[in-house]
Amino acid sequence: MKVLVVNAGSSSIKYQVVDMTDESVLAVGLVDRVGIPGTTLEHKPVGKDKVLIKKDLPDHTAGMKLVLEVLVNEEYGCIKSMDEIGAVGHRVVHGGEEFAESVVIDDRVKKVIKDCFDIAPLHNPPNLMGIDACEELMPNVNHVAVFDTAFHQSMEASNFLYALPYEVYEKYRVRRYGFHGTSHFYVSHRAAEMMGKPFEECKIITLHLGNGASMAAVKGGKVVDTTMGFTPLEGLVMGTRSGDIDPAIVFFLMEKLGLGTTEANSYFNKKAGMLGLSGVSNDLRDILEAAASGNERAQTALDVYYNRVKGYIGNYMAKLNGCDCLVFTAGVGENAIDIRENICKDLDYLGIKMDVEKNKVRGKEVDVAAADSKVKIFVIPTNEELVIARDTYRLSK
Ligand code: ADP
Repeated sequence: MKVLVVNAGSSSIKYQVVDMTDESVLAVGLVDRVGIPGTTLEHKPVGKDKVLIKKDLPDHTAGMKLVLEVLVNEEYGCIKSMDEIGAVGHRVVHGGEEFAESVVIDDRVKKVIKDCFDIAPLHNPPNLMGIDACEELMPNVNHVAVFDTAFHQSMEASNFLYALPYEVYEKYRVRRYGFHGTSHFYVSHRAAEMMGKPFEECKIITLHLGNGASMAAVKGGKVVDTTMGFTPLEGLVMGTRSGDIDPAIVFFLMEKLGLGTTEANSYFNKKAGMLGLSGVSNDLRDILEAAASGNERAQTALDVYYNRVKGYIGNYMAKLNGCDCLVFTAGVGENAIDIRENICKDLDYLGIKMDVEKNKVRGKEVDVAAADSKVKIFVIPTNEELVIARDTYRLSK
């Protein structure tokens, strides 16, 4: 069976076709600027040249329609007919407290996705648009939802509750959910395989460091804690998100800067983080370059970033009572040699010692710990699409 993996954002659709007989990827692509003038579709069939199509598309259904045409195109397609696609896997950001696992989409599932619009206003509406579009165009195959929050549902109340009046949890479900769950799931399982140990017997700290960033502490096959919270704003310092701050700063700045709630939300999500702190960029490559050429503010921003990550390593070491390995993944974690090195510097008291020569690696599965390090330090490229394809296949066989 071949599975189509779809990740629909507000103005984009990312897709992949995976052949489940050997889990090989047949094509990847991205439709960008859906519903905005200047729509493009970039399609890369494996083993053939990339194709760029420019065609304005009004909505996600039009976007998906074009994707399906491209997939069966004689010249640059990757399948002969749509009948080859046996199921579609959809990335859905928020599954609330309902879903601890992937599910076949039906009306009840769609209602839960809709019920979460309130707490995931940027992600769940476009995710559902993608599902509706695909169901319309492919009514005879299984559609499966794979949630970013699902793996974190194994967290216990002692780590997911905030110290707020309990009624707000009961009434509004205000609690820690955590995100990037599919990535934390994939890399923690790979780490267990690389250590040759059953997943349920491992204690793992995963660091998904991309533009958005989060960490998770995993023990006994369950998430003990994770840094993102009720929304993706909490935790680490990110490209444009502040991560942890004193919540009183929000009220203070709303007053000083004259911000309404929508503007404040946007301020802490889009103007803060490494962009706001460094004044250079949200991209860590630019900040590293600026710091190397003497920009002190960029260097300070990096030091804040490292300290926040180190703080959570300590936090999670305490909560797990030690750990077997750290896992670096996502854009920064897989590629940024200096950043990994600085995070792991001076952590030998915790049994973490990096081999800085081994660490000179990008985008490969490797253990970069020193021979006498108690804790292994893995670099593992994440593969959320594969998890989505596997779950979709498992639920559609
Ligand atoms: P997201 O999915 O959250 O958009 P990614 O996981 O794709 O993010 O990561 C993108 C980020 O990775 C970029 O913003 C950039 O900061 C960072 N990045 C990629 N390569 C490098 C590198 N060699 N050094 C430092 N940062 C890098």
